Amino acid sequence: MEIFARMPKNAIEVRNLVKTYAGSRRSGPIQALKAIDLDVPAGSIFGLLGPNGAGKSTFINILAGLVLKTSGTVGIWGFDQDANPRHARAAIGVVPQELNIDPFFTPLESLEVQAGLYAVPKSERRSMEILSRVGLAEQAHAYTRSLSGGMRRRLLLAKALVHNPPVLVLDEPTAGVDIELRRMLWDYVRELNAAGTTVILTTHYLEEAEAMCDRIAILNHGEVVACEDTPDLLARIDTKTLLLRLAERCESPPDLGPEVTARMRAPDLLALTYSRSRASAPALVAAAQAAGLEITDITTEEANLEQVFLSLTQSGKAG
Ligand code: ADP
Repeated sequence: MEIFARMPKNAIEVRNLVKTYAGSRRSGPIQALKAIDLDVPAGSIFGLLGPNGAGKSTFINILAGLVLKTSGTVGIWGFDQDANPRHARAAIGVVPQELNIDPFFTPLESLEVQAGLYAVPKSERRSMEILSRVGLAEQAHAYTRSLSGGMRRRLLLAKALVHNPPVLVLDEPTAGVDIELRRMLWDYVRELNAAGTTVILTTHYLEEAEAMCDRIAILNHGEVVACEDTPDLLARIDTKTLLLRLAERCESPPDLGPEVTARMRAPDLLALTYSRSRASAPALVAAAQAAGLEITDITTEEANLEQVFLSLTQSGKAG
């Protein structure tokens, strides 16, 4: 749409965002989001990670206009959600987690209805094009109730795209999705991103966030505990693993002290996991040699997001 032609610095700008659910009489009010500040750079693929109950869905549903915030401000593609709700809503497309689809429409009709809801002029509609892009051209006129789970997910993605939003949000897009569909999804997301769409995704597949996202925010208990470019986040992790290839097979790992966890990855491959701030690679190599091991090769392993995530959420603080 014309009004989205200009690219702002941030696709999403959230300040002091609070969401308090009434909760039950027993639980009392639930603070799902505690005064969150978050920027999503325009043009990025942005990952939103966090354990169950962290507030991810609440955050996304507020962006989508499906949940009312308690206080704070939400800007979408430069449009304030309170001052300019129509444009803010039109700037975002959300692929929900649940596979709720109206069984009375065919996929093509579903897209046309959605286009109508967003007031997309007939001349600008691309329903068939979108359906074929997500691999549903053959099912365009099928009964929606006959679609498989994977096809329904594709249809939800197609629906989120009918109004050509500059920001696309995918809520747990690959939960329960087979490998082929996952690959198709990621390829298409990358393609949309290359063409200028800002993508926000929530996921529990940490490796995928690592592979897909330029920047990652981690939510925990309604707070942002980290928000950094992916390589910086990975670099911040304290845990490291050193792999020592041994000249001889070893039955059990040696005891190298309390600062290191030693495991045999293979009979001749010793993995030493340690905290960078408390031990060093040269000292560990020396300790292994002192324990009588002959080392033929040394490699280190980069931290993965799982480790970053654990260390950040366990300490509960941004560094
Ligand atoms: P996530 O998506 O990260 O799992 P949610 O946003 O779903 O987290 O939930 C955040 C917190 O808000 C949780 O404590 C959850 O129980 C609570 N919550 C979510 N939706 C509601 C609701 N409709 N009513 C009451 N509490 C809710």
